[in-house]
Amino acid sequence: MSKALTDKVAIVTGSGNGLGEAIARRFAAEGARVVVSDIDPAAAERVSGTIDGAICIPADVTDEQQVQELVNQTKQRLGDLHIMVPNAGVGFVQPIAEMSLADWRRTTAVNLDGVFLSIRYAAPAIIESGGGAIVTISSITSTAGSPLIAAYAAAKAAVRNLTETAAIEFREHGIRINAVLPGFIDTHLVTAAAPHFEAALGLPDGGFGPFIAEKQGRYGTPEEVAAAVTFFASEQASWCTGSSLVLDGGMVASLL
Ligand code: ADP
Repeated sequence: MSKALTDKVAIVTGSGNGLGEAIARRFAAEGARVVVSDIDPAAAERVSGTIDGAICIPADVTDEQQVQELVNQTKQRLGDLHIMVPNAGVGFVQPIAEMSLADWRRTTAVNLDGVFLSIRYAAPAIIESGGGAIVTISSITSTAGSPLIAAYAAAKAAVRNLTETAAIEFREHGIRINAVLPGFIDTHLVTAAAPHFEAALGLPDGGFGPFIAEKQGRYGTPEEVAAAVTFFASEQASWCTGSSLVLDGGMVASLL
């Protein structure tokens, strides 16, 4: 079977770890030349060093100049850009009553501004290369109130709407833009948050895993999300733009 992303050039932000790493690995397995980018240069090096044909360009997605430079360097070193996945994210567990404006901005800067900047600077390069795809990482927390992660959930809801607007603005320019909405995935971001959720939700120590198992069946894996991102990035999704795909083992489908 032919590979889904043969000869495509793809940037994955926040790919020094977790979900982004799985996306970068899957893209490479599908024939793409991948730019592994992360705010943590050592993490990005570690991942890119173990992926055939990948290059490493560290960048902080909240810094406009660094995002511009990430796109420019990609074009200089790989010639083209076809796919952007603005995956970099942070999350903190905190009730609104204890959240400072600085905390709020720390979360929205990466999870929302970073996505805006990634789309803003990748899109012209993708158009120059003859078109392509952008796949954003929203979250099931964008679909309803999400106690203790207000800033994260609000940013992810905004990402979903930004995805739809960008899909329309860039449709005539040959860029398809879609969002995946993962549930709770087995990554550092979630496992680090688990004890905070346990304390706040009155769950026993280690109780977050069983809680999630009841809602989602189990934790999702980064590879399961990477498969959906690959679908949207590839020509198999040639008529999809402005779409959202929920991946959560049925959690948001359930009322009870
Ligand atoms: P998940 O994979 O669940 O999204 P992780 O914490 O495992 O969560 O991975 C998020 C990645 O995003 C990390 O590698 C982290 O270094 C990266 N990251 C965080 N903030 C930024 C930023 N401002 N710019 C680029 N990458 C970032």
